[in-house]
Amino acid sequence: MREGQRRILVVEDELTIAESIAARLRAEGFEVELAHDGPSAVAKAEQVVPDLIVLDLMLPGFDGLEVCRQVQAHRPVPVLMLTARDDETDLLVGLAVGADDYMTKPFSIRELAARVHALLRRVDRSVDHFGKRPGSTIVLGDLEIDPVERRVQRAGEPAHLTPTEFELLAHLAGRPRAVVPRERLLSEIWGWTDPAATRTVDSHIKALRRKLGADLIRTVHGVGYALEVPK
Ligand code: CA
Repeated sequence: MREGQRRILVVEDELTIAESIAARLRAEGFEVELAHDGPSAVAKAEQVVPDLIVLDLMLPGFDGLEVCRQVQAHRPVPVLMLTARDDETDLLVGLAVGADDYMTKPFSIRELAARVHALLRRVDRSVDHFGKRPGSTIVLGDLEIDPVERRVQRAGEPAHLTPTEFELLAHLAGRPRAVVPRERLLSEIWGWTDPAATRTVDSHIKALRRKLGADLIRTVHGVGYALEVPK
């Protein structure tokens, strides 16, 4: 699929910012839809089925966290969250809310567009990677990963993972019990090399544990993570 055909939902109540993001993304060939508050963002996401959502945290109605929860409950969609301050980003990373990436205002529109492209490439890469092995459901104890449908269940219970969470789980599941360094996860999944960004990995691990059980992923302090094979 060409990126020119991609649809992006921009959710931002500050109209000047919303319009400048939309203009830049349209100039790069994306189809852009806009929403300016929480409830209409959820409705719009159901209606237009975006490939990615640029989502401001503080919104009228209800906030970006609630938008994220409601939208992700239907289907996994990549989310780039916009926050007003660095400490808000820290808080969200700690909460493991299910956004794939964060940007703190003020940001450059050029940088935002670059992050959007990077996030879409990450999702594509994940699909391509698994597309080569159709029908190969990975079964590790009571954990089942269907790479084609991108479905995960544990003990028969389906889990709703974001695209990034799915890719992180798939990375670890590719070599069960092996310790994968955080820096390597960061570079292979996010395409980042900044070691200071490894807390991003930690937040997504935290989300996976919350959704699939704390016993699934072992922390190897100072090194990284390993997937335990559940009974
Ligand atoms: Ca706002």
